[in-house]
Amino acid sequence: MNAKADTICAIATPPGRGGVGVIRLSGPDSLSIAERISGSLPPARTASLRAFRDDAGREIDRGLVLLFPGPASFTGEDVVEFQAHGSPVVLELLTAACLAAGARRAGPGEFSQRAFLNERMDLAQAEAVADLIAANTEKAARAAQRSLEGEFSRRVDGLAQALTELRVWIEAALDFPDEDVDFLADGDVLSRVEALRGQLAELLHRADGGRLLNDGIHIAIIGPPNAGKSSLLNALSRRDSAIVTETPGTTRDVLRETISIAGLSITLSDTAGLRETRDHIEAEGVRRARREMRSADLVFWVIDASVPEPLPPPGLPTDVPLIRIHNKIDLAGHPAKSEQRSVWLSAATGDGLDLLEQLVIAELGLADSGDSEFSARQRHVDQLQCALDRVDHGVAELTASGSGELLAEDLREAAEALGEITGRISADELLGRIFSSFCIGK
Ligand code: GDP
Ligand code: ZN
Repeated sequence: MNAKADTICAIATPPGRGGVGVIRLSGPDSLSIAERISGSLPPARTASLRAFRDDAGREIDRGLVLLFPGPASFTGEDVVEFQAHGSPVVLELLTAACLAAGARRAGPGEFSQRAFLNERMDLAQAEAVADLIAANTEKAARAAQRSLEGEFSRRVDGLAQALTELRVWIEAALDFPDEDVDFLADGDVLSRVEALRGQLAELLHRADGGRLLNDGIHIAIIGPPNAGKSSLLNALSRRDSAIVTETPGTTRDVLRETISIAGLSITLSDTAGLRETRDHIEAEGVRRARREMRSADLVFWVIDASVPEPLPPPGLPTDVPLIRIHNKIDLAGHPAKSEQRSVWLSAATGDGLDLLEQLVIAELGLADSGDSEFSARQRHVDQLQCALDRVDHGVAELTASGSGELLAEDLREAAEALGEITGRISADELLGRIFSSFCIGK
């Protein structure tokens, strides 16, 4: 599939200094290039100490050389790894020696792209490699690992196959109509499509959870001044010290902080108070708060439980779930509790914060996924949604007009939409976009 490939090389370890730095080569000339640099080659998959020399025979460093002959390598091609000392100078000299021996510098994601083109992994798995590297929490890393293992791809492929089988069956039935049985009317087709629809909807739901794990979750905190928004942000970020990073806000009015709740990476943004105003500067803050809310996965509406409850602020997005947080229960004399989408807590004492965390997990649909999540991307969610829409369309067509042909066509399109997830069906332009976002050396 990738017959005319040249040999690429890249530093596979992160920039900077470290104990060890790795150079990776992949392509038809990997072994001969390695031979020029390290002399005699060791047996496959056996680390051996060698002196690395440049074109003029000068020793650059000593380290380990490892051969992974294709096709049983990461890329499916002959792969060589040099493990040298992790000095940027040494690694650059080694790279120069590889280039002088005929290799070319790899572009971002080019190793993974070759692995995909040589069918060592499908597209969703290749994306999971990048997602594993980018993971910020243990949960996200485990989910990416599961996708890398093919858990998500197997489900997608299984559904694509089931959709295709049903389509072929319908087409065969249309070609050879049985005079006695109207197969479309006897309910069997409809129940089979609906069973597949249910599986598709479930996979979509889980993929959406996987996308949240991957991208991280964005929560916008809104509410009147002095309700305790900033205190809540501080209380939540102190509580789970696993990962707390200051993300500089894009504006002075929005403060962002990334925290971890139950192993999930969550970015909280504390926005300017939301209320109608004639003050121009404040109006700008309100506009930004609204924008923040619209792009959020969840909104926290914080109110002071010790004063009369204010009216909901105008401009709340209807498509983003909202949790109403009654803060300052220590002043109000309420016990901590949660019900539906409301929670009573105190940012000052920490009482009730655990209830809020549980509510967040439940609201995002991540409550009972246990340890079986896989990572996914927005692209995958969109394709699943597209497949689901096609199936719904086909069912509507079948019920309205009894048209098996139209249903078959919709099932074909649904299976194709799924095929784009794993790259069984993929446009060059899509591949370019996906792999160019990878880091070099992957
Ligand atoms: P924001 O304007 O909504 O960000 O509110 P702040 O977080 O700045 O809090 C306003 C005031 O309320 C501060 O004096 C906080 O110390 C106080 N406050 C916040 N949360 C609580 C709480 O749970 N209990 C009590 N007693 N005071 C709180
Ligand atoms: Zn504040």
